[in-house]
Amino acid sequence: MVKITKDFIPVGHNNRPGYAMNPAYITVHNTANTAKGASAAMHARYEKNPETPTSWHFTVDEKEIYQHLPLNENGWHAGDGNSGTGNRKSIGIEICENSDGDFEKAVANAQWLIKKLMKEQGISLANVVPHQHWSGKYCPRKLLDRWDSFKAGISGAPSSPAKTETKTSGSTYTVKKGDTLSEIAVKTGVSMAKLQAYNGIKNANKITVG
Ligand SMILES: [Zn+2]
Repeated sequence: MVKITKDFIPVGHNNRPGYAMNPAYITVHNTANTAKGASAAMHARYEKNPETPTSWHFTVDEKEIYQHLPLNENGWHAGDGNSGTGNRKSIGIEICENSDGDFEKAVANAQWLIKKLMKEQGISLANVVPHQHWSGKYCPRKLLDRWDSFKAGISGAPSSPAKTETKTSGSTYTVKKGDTLSEIAVKTGVSMAKLQAYNGIKNANKITVG
């Protein structure tokens, strides 16, 4: 779970065009900024500068994520023109490469974010593409030579705790319709006998939703 701060570009700025978007792709970039302090927070400030011509949806560094645009609006990041699919139908993600950061941790955070967005937006792994796919630009420059393993790492990234179906943290599990005690025992790793004892369940075949 990585902290995501929504810090949107003000409405009316040139880099917040506001065209309605139904995202079908995720486009991955590297910032190409190795300066010290060129973190996600710094890029959030850069995005809000009225002089900044380009825009994308998320910047990820080794410790946090900033979101600059709502996901139902486009940004200018793909270099494929005003009506290009990259610019008009893809979520843009910049991965920081500041020299005082941990690039591999930033990559892992980006993989986590992409997995979450794929699930929430119904985007397939095939539609996770490098910036190069749209315009030919050599970007993300630190990931293109390992693109396949980067994508493989998205599938293997840990899910957000909030998204897992079975809630076992804090030792509570809420019974859903169709659950059986034996299934819950498997999911939670607690034996049926213990589940019955802890919850005062006399008949293991009769549990109540909620
Ligand atoms: Zn790029």
